[in-house]
Amino acid sequence: MCGIVGFIGQEQAAPILLDGLARLEYRGYDSAGVAVVSPRHEIQVKKSKGRLQVLSDMIHGGADVEGCIGIGHTRWATHGAPSDLNSHPHMSEGGKFAVIHNGIIENYVEIKEFLIGQGVTFRSETDTEVVAQLLEFYYNECHDFFESVGRVLRRIEGAYALGILCADCPDRIIAARKDAPLLLGYGEGCSFLASDVTAIIRHTRSVAYMEDGEVAVLTTAGIQVYNALGDPIEKERHHIDWEVSAAEKGGYPHFMLKEIFEQPQALRRAIMPRLRADRVYLEDMKLTAEKIRSFTRIFIVACGSSYHVGVIGKYNLEHLTRRSVEVVLASEFRYADPIVDENSLVIVISQSGETLDTMAALREAKKCGAYILSIVNVVGSSIARESDDVLYTWAGPEIAVATTKAYSTQLAVLDMVGLAFGEVLGTVSEDEYAEVVRELRALPEKMETVLKSCEDIQKYAAQYFNHNSVFFIGRNLDYALGLEGSLKLKEISYIHSEAYASGELKHGTISLIENGTLVIALGTYGALFDKAMSNVVEVKARGAEVLALTTESHRAEMEKTVASVLSVPDTARMLQPSLGVVPLQLFAYYVALQRGCDIDKPRNLAKSVTVE
Ligand code: GLU
Repeated sequence: MCGIVGFIGQEQAAPILLDGLARLEYRGYDSAGVAVVSPRHEIQVKKSKGRLQVLSDMIHGGADVEGCIGIGHTRWATHGAPSDLNSHPHMSEGGKFAVIHNGIIENYVEIKEFLIGQGVTFRSETDTEVVAQLLEFYYNECHDFFESVGRVLRRIEGAYALGILCADCPDRIIAARKDAPLLLGYGEGCSFLASDVTAIIRHTRSVAYMEDGEVAVLTTAGIQVYNALGDPIEKERHHIDWEVSAAEKGGYPHFMLKEIFEQPQALRRAIMPRLRADRVYLEDMKLTAEKIRSFTRIFIVACGSSYHVGVIGKYNLEHLTRRSVEVVLASEFRYADPIVDENSLVIVISQSGETLDTMAALREAKKCGAYILSIVNVVGSSIARESDDVLYTWAGPEIAVATTKAYSTQLAVLDMVGLAFGEVLGTVSEDEYAEVVRELRALPEKMETVLKSCEDIQKYAAQYFNHNSVFFIGRNLDYALGLEGSLKLKEISYIHSEAYASGELKHGTISLIENGTLVIALGTYGALFDKAMSNVVEVKARGAEVLALTTESHRAEMEKTVASVLSVPDTARMLQPSLGVVPLQLFAYYVALQRGCDIDKPRNLAKSVTVE
């Protein structure tokens, strides 16, 4: 969601802040702003609705805002419309404090009323402004920056990553975190603050992740972090070793296309180190065989595309382990009074490891005594840190809002969890185990062949891009695959799209099929191919235009009924969606391109959803 950057050092801050914010643009935002302390110790705030470029032009790339200490923000509005006034940073009435914030201050109404009663005038509609105003209110009492921050943190409720400037203390930035991502960067004679490492990686590779309740004081001499009790603590530093180029487009017109094409490589990283001598070794997992046998309930909890990975995971894990697996949306799980106890395993899936709904579900499950295994891409992220066990997907930074390579690697890792559990429980046959391992090894290469055939997909995208309503239909794993194909299409092309289990159509939805309705029929699940065909015939009989996706071995059969057919190589039954998803990603991409959409930053969406 919103982006946060802070800098204190010897160089001019504004250009560094603008550059950092530009690297966070992919996360989705509606306005941007910076605050810089001038050499005369005045806080200058420049902010504006719209793209970062508008702000950058307004301050001539930062040249107009002099000063070596500052904070910058890209906002994803939760309280108050996207507008110049509601953009961050927010200043206190007397001009002493500037604040940037990611998250939601839940008790802001009560604090606002209190401050208005004290004669404070508010300028914006945001929840964030209460932090700036309350800081100044306490500062007027105690005249101490750090103490004022402490008092504010004790008074506010909700989620926050905060960056704070005080005009009277032009030698420091104070940062605080609760339930929102925030990290610190260590440089030579300078210090950084960021919501995501991509914002500062050009300047430093040495970072520390802030924990809930911690407060950090950043100066040119270094960073001192305090725990929730106010005691100074030493933070563990992490070295970021991925290349800056990993977060650049490298010749592709969009990050999404680049990331689609990076999938074979990402899969190699996720799969190969975990396969040896035809066996799966999840050595990064601490779970013992005894513990695995003790689980009586397995849950998969996630949001969005990660949830769709979970839907496939349910089919595959139940098949491999003969244990019942429940897949639950994270935002529902936490309020559903779930039946979870010490014998439950909760697998949480999140690309960023910062998804607030998933994090809240994780904490709920932990409170009930469950064992938490997370599948996460971002190393050291909050979800990774709070889990009992983490399996990283090693997909590299994913920039496009619509996930592709994170989805594919999550799926592969979850399939490997299924194999490993099946082996421990003795519920998977040797033959199937061997076949799936063999096909996991071959998956990156097979995916490369799918990527080579993208002209066909472009052709169909050009043919179908102006449809206004699309249905994805499929059975079993094809239904789960359809959920993801449909989400990909709607999120970047804004076409209304639904995924249905084919058998369910006749229970209602078929009434929406009329002359010219586009139906994307998924028939990659061999065992139910004939059933899939019957459903294709049914929708065709009602006038639907059908685009079918099947396997190479069923292509000829499909072409007898459908003119527009895409196919992917055959693989193990349970891995078929891992190949099937690629043409659906590309179809969504090319349709969105035809429609002139902002592919990497679709409207209203953000990369990592850190508000509830
Ligand atoms: N709740 C704050 C606002 O609406 C912060 C939003 C954000 O995280 O960008 O201004």
